[in-house]
Order: sequence, then structure tokens, then C-alpha cells
Amino acid sequence: MTNTGALWRNWARSESVRPIRIERPTSVAAVQRAVIAAAKSGMSIKAVGSGHSFSGIAVAPGVLLDLADLAGLVGVDTNTGRVTLAAGTRLHRIRGLLAPYGLALANMGDVDRQTISGATSTGTHGTGSAFGGLATQIVGLTLVTGDGGLLHVSETENAEIFPAARLGLGALGILVDVTIQCVPAFLLHAVEQAEPLAEVLDTFDERSRTADHFEFYWFPHTEKALTKTNTRLDPASGRAPLAPVSRWIDDELLANGAFGALCTVGAVVPQTVPTINRFAERFMARREYTDASTRIFVSRRAVRFHEMEYALPIAAIPAAVREVRELIQRSGWRISFPIEVRSAAADDVWLSTAHGRETGYIAVHRFYRENPGEYFAAVEAIMRAHDGRPHWGKMHTRDAESLREAYPHFDDFLAVRDRLDPERRFGNRYLDRVLGR
Ligand SMILES: Cc1cc2nc3c(=O)[nH]c(=O)nc-3n(C[C@H](O)[C@H](O)[C@H](O)COP(=O)(O)OP(=O)(O)OC[C@H]3O[C@@H](n4cnc5c(N)ncnc54)[C@H](O)[C@@H]3O)c2cc1C
Repeated sequence: MTNTGALWRNWARSESVRPIRIERPTSVAAVQRAVIAAAKSGMSIKAVGSGHSFSGIAVAPGVLLDLADLAGLVGVDTNTGRVTLAAGTRLHRIRGLLAPYGLALANMGDVDRQTISGATSTGTHGTGSAFGGLATQIVGLTLVTGDGGLLHVSETENAEIFPAARLGLGALGILVDVTIQCVPAFLLHAVEQAEPLAEVLDTFDERSRTADHFEFYWFPHTEKALTKTNTRLDPASGRAPLAPVSRWIDDELLANGAFGALCTVGAVVPQTVPTINRFAERFMARREYTDASTRIFVSRRAVRFHEMEYALPIAAIPAAVREVRELIQRSGWRISFPIEVRSAAADDVWLSTAHGRETGYIAVHRFYRENPGEYFAAVEAIMRAHDGRPHWGKMHTRDAESLREAYPHFDDFLAVRDRLDPERRFGNRYLDRVLGR
């Protein structure tokens, strides 16, 4: 299906474009034809996922490929737990696709609206010091490269490309399928509670290491953090989920409905923000429950926001959070959105934000109707001083020159790009900035 002139916008409403053409291929061969046709007419072409990147990484000014019709299960190896999914599969569909095989994703981020390809291409991650991001769970993939050819990549096939292609920023080609190493389905026991920020920072390193999945949210202008500690359990231990009504009150009414309304008030009358945040703090009642992993990893986010996230050596997290706190106090800004802090294991994916080091993440947010400029710029300066690496799908101002210093394999990645897309068929302005032309 081809469409012209339609406006594309990302979820955060921070990026938009009117592509020359939008195509919805229904087969791998149709993706190849689209790439060849774009090449013949000298146009750029990009696959777009669900537009959940805050940065301009998914902007497709030439041909926009929407892979919604290239979704679902391609194959399952029940011996190894390896599952191949078509590239346009949304994360929220995966649970149902894996259920008949008793499998699950090893770890997930906060939401599940993204496509598997978009999520892995930007380094989407959850939390847990013994767990890597989504790209580390990818064990094979198939790309349509700049000349329209098909390339299978895994640890054993075209293995020299594997560390680049698992997290390729959409710069190496169009993914048509990915193979994931899944794990047996599991439950998570969740404990959520408000704790003094100072104590959480003092123990962050240790708690990140001892818990399976530890994270916290700190609401600026308060002294409290909401901690979340999730422990992996065998399904035989049994579910003890939240009652549907209390889940709805906490997760829909307070986290989305009331929070959205309060953010709107805060944007118009910023002086109310500290009071609003203290109000939010009061609702952080202790909750303890056990449920399927996907129901605990993932939340619904109905209030739109802008986000920047930086990956730091894990030991730097407490100092960096304290500096952000002092910055907010000094500046007089009123920040309604919490700061989220997570962790991940070191990995060997070339452009992974956790490449080669145990990592902690600090994410800052602003309501989408507020200008994040000054706040994000000042936080970015703190993160850079701690040797931080920006999330590829979130807002930042780094360019190729500064990112080369942050990634030991940056030039190796560029060499793969030169080989697979010498004409920059898959380029856009964001990639020009972060990788160079
Ligand atoms: C509410 C919200 C919550 C979030 N939570 C988290 C979180 O917990 N952790 C985290 O790390 N991130 C998080 N993110 C960021 C998000 O996971 C990433 O930006 C992710 O890339 C979005 O996936 P997408 O399918 O929307 O991809 P898009 O944003 O549409 O595209 C991202 C990139 O993938 C490329 N791409 C998409 N499909 C293909 C394909 N078939 N072949 C080649 N390239 C392709 C695009 O060209 C682009 O370069 C969140 C974002 C939002 C809006």
C-alpha cells in the first residue's frame, strides 16, 4: 500500500515529517523492491517503528516504510528457546505469541508499544545489573541492505557484522526479522515503596547488584524516592496480582489521569509544581504483588513527555543524581516529572550505551508542553562530566565527534555502515549528526 503527503509525528510530538511516500510492504520481497525503487529514484528510505523515539532518529523524509503488516511469529526453536519475529512485531504482541511455548523475554523496558526492530535499533533497555538491554537478547537478524540484497547475520553467519547490527540505529538497512534468545516464562515478585532519597542513593550500587531488577523514581522538590524491587520467581510459586480496582486507581487514575491533569496545571502555573510533587509522594503507598513478568515490567504511559537519558559507569550514579538535585534547587526550575534511575550489565554490542561497562541510567523528563531545553542542556553537561553516553532514541545534543570518544568501536561501526549502505540510502539528519555523512 502506498500513501503520499501524510504527516508523520512521533509519540512525544517532538518530531514530524511529511515523507514523499509511505509504503506498507506485506512481504520481505516487497521491502527489497521498495529499497531498489528508492535507490533508482535517488530517494532515502527508512523503516519506522511505532514512533516512540524522542530523538529524530526515525524521521523519514523520503520513503517511510511502515512494517505493521510484516509482524508476527516466523519460527520457534523449542530446544534452544530461540524465537524469530517479523520486524514490525510490537512488543505487546510478543507475550501472546510466546505463551504457547512457555517462553518470555528475559528483560523489558517500561512500555511495550514499540516494535521489536525499533526497540533494539536504539538500545532500549530495562533495569537489572545482571541483564543487558534488548539488543543483547538478539541472536540473529535479517537485513535488506542498501542494494536491496538480503543479509543474514548471527554469531555464526556474517559474524563480523553481528556486534554492529544488533543495535544499528536504522543506519545499516531494513530489518525484516530478528531472532531472540528467550527464557522460560517467569513471574516477578514486586515491592514498591517510598524511601528517603539519601538512603536510596547511598545503597544504590549494592541494591542494584543484589536485586534482580532494582530501579527508583525521584520526584524533584521532594526528599523521597519510589523504589521498585522485582525478584524473578518460578511460575509454580503462583501469582498474587494486584486487585483490578486498586491497579486501576494507582496505574490509570493516579499515574496517568490525575498526573496528566496536574502536569497541565503545572505547565500553566509552575509555582504549583512542588506542591503537586509532594501530593504525588503521598500516593506512593507500599505495594507488594506477584504477577507475570510482562505485567510487572511494563506500565501504560498516557501522559506525553519529552525525555533525555544518559548511561554512566554505575559507580557514578549517586554523585550524578545529587548534582542534578542541586542543579534543580539552584536554578529555581519547577520540574513536575520524576527522574528515573536504572542499571544494566556490561555488554559487547558496539553502540550499546552499556558497552564494556556496568551501567547506571539517569532519565530526565518534561511534560511535552514545557520547553525541556535549558533543563536538559544543564543535565547533559553533568552527564558528560561523568563520561555519560546518551540513549540513541532520546533527546540529546551530541555529535559524531564527541560520540567517537565515548565508544571504542565507533569507527568499526562506521566501516560496517560504509559496506552495507555506502550511498546513505538509510540516512537522515539525525544520523548525519551522530554518525557523520
Ligand atoms: C513512553 C515511552 C517509554 C519508553 N520507555 C523506554 C524504556 O523503558 N527503556 C528504553 O531504553 N527506552 C524507552 N523508550 C524509548 C523507546 O524504546 C525507543 O526510542 C524505541 O526505539 C522506540 O521503538 P519504535 O518501534 O517506536 O521505533 P521508532 O522510534 O519508530 O524507530 C527507532 C529507530 O529504529 C529504526 N527502525 C524501526 N524499524 C526498523 C526496521 N525494521 N529496520 C531497521 N530499522 C528500524 C528507525 O528507523 C529508527 O532509527 C520509551 C519511549 C516512550 C515514548
